[in-house]
Amino acid sequence: MSAFGPGRGTGHAAGNGPPAQAPGITYGGRPWVPSGLCPVAVAPVDWAVPRGYRGELVRRRVHDFPEKLVALTFDDGPDGKVTPRILEALAAHRARATFFVLGERVRLHARLLRQMATAGHAIGNHSYSHPAHPSAQDAQRELRATQELIREVTGRPPSCFRPPYGITKNALTRLALRQGYATVLWTIDSGDALGYERQDIATRATRAPAPGQIILFHDGPGHHTTAEAVPTILEKLSAAGFQFVTIPELLQAWDQWLRQSRRAAACSSTGAGG
Ligand SMILES: [Zn+2]
Repeated sequence: MSAFGPGRGTGHAAGNGPPAQAPGITYGGRPWVPSGLCPVAVAPVDWAVPRGYRGELVRRRVHDFPEKLVALTFDDGPDGKVTPRILEALAAHRARATFFVLGERVRLHARLLRQMATAGHAIGNHSYSHPAHPSAQDAQRELRATQELIREVTGRPPSCFRPPYGITKNALTRLALRQGYATVLWTIDSGDALGYERQDIATRATRAPAPGQIILFHDGPGHHTTAEAVPTILEKLSAAGFQFVTIPELLQAWDQWLRQSRRAAACSSTGAGG
């Protein structure tokens, strides 16, 4: 609905003084400021998504997309124990990923979140407290509080949203779409939330390597098996020639590919006609 995409319409100037507090938003009754963090961060990777994906639901790969790109996504973090292990594995493979974070966990791990953004990973909104069916009013708070937290800590608003539990028919997802979030599900579930062992998670995650897969993982508290499985997954997919990109980067690549394909189709039909 917004012509500016999520996070652009709140009118806060970045860079001067302490991080702006969103009007009407408090965290546990107290205003919250990420302690010891200066207000502006410079992250090297652009989080903007192409216009065609703003306010759209992404739930499958682009057909025939040829580039060997894969997007690893981690939900429900950050966590002080699990997330750093995943970051280490990603860094060892020069891999970028997308973390769909919860506002309530960002409050606990602001410094870690900034580290994730500075390392080139994309940060997406996964709501504040992971509700399944919030009221319209709560949905507004959930989305906005997390958006503002991410912006305060990293210096930029998130452009992507992942619905808690993958539920798309609720007030939260409807609102995210209306606000212009690229609302991104997954094409492969690693099964790491289902109690699988390390080896099974790795097998499931790499069972159908194909250009443009979006793989679901979790880096919330207790997901140690995920952290154990990630190095194997990175090794397997790297060996198969895949590069690891963020969701915004994948959507950019899809967008470019679709434009090229449309141009090529237009050229060939013009050629045939004349
Ligand atoms: Zn979740």
